[in-house]
Amino acid sequence: MFEHVSQLPADEPVELLIAREDAELAVSLQPRAGCRALVEVLADDARIARSDGRVIQLSLGLASGMSDDALAASFAHELAHLILEHRRRLSAAGVSKGLFGEFGANRRRNRAAETEADRLSVHLLANAGLDPAIAPRFWRSEEGRRVDAGIFRSAIYPSPTDRAELMEKEIAEYLPQGRGPSWPAHLLALRDSAF
Ligand SMILES: [Zn+2]
Repeated sequence: MFEHVSQLPADEPVELLIAREDAELAVSLQPRAGCRALVEVLADDARIARSDGRVIQLSLGLASGMSDDALAASFAHELAHLILEHRRRLSAAGVSKGLFGEFGANRRRNRAAETEADRLSVHLLANAGLDPAIAPRFWRSEEGRRVDAGIFRSAIYPSPTDRAELMEKEIAEYLPQGRGPSWPAHLLALRDSAF
């Protein structure tokens, strides 16, 4: 079902035929312009935050211990991976995440993707009506350090301080008012570049 819907044209109505006991109901839904992602909260205690190019998954074990700001910053980061088409671009470059992703050229490319996602994430926060500074603030906080020391501690990520600095620079340069709307063409253009 989700697979099918995700293949439909983004700007055309979705026609549904709903079967109810003894009646059928035809419904036409006009999709709102936006970026398509399916968000799943995994009902387990694992500490997972990931996206595969279509689905963003966050485990309850991780989400339930996070502040609202931390959750918003995490979703913005995962959504940025989808928007920047990192799965497609990394696969095209022959990069697999996981063990081999942490070495050599793979590590460099994976880290480049993480950096792009961090930069775009502050624009997404601003466009959602939030203060983009919550993301760097999160990475500088106790909570950010704790999260970094857990699931995120992988060689493909810059240090929490480096991530915070990168986001603060992005905000200072492109979001000096600290709010949206923002159209980060300089980052969106990266979708056409190879890793
Ligand atoms: Zn990431």
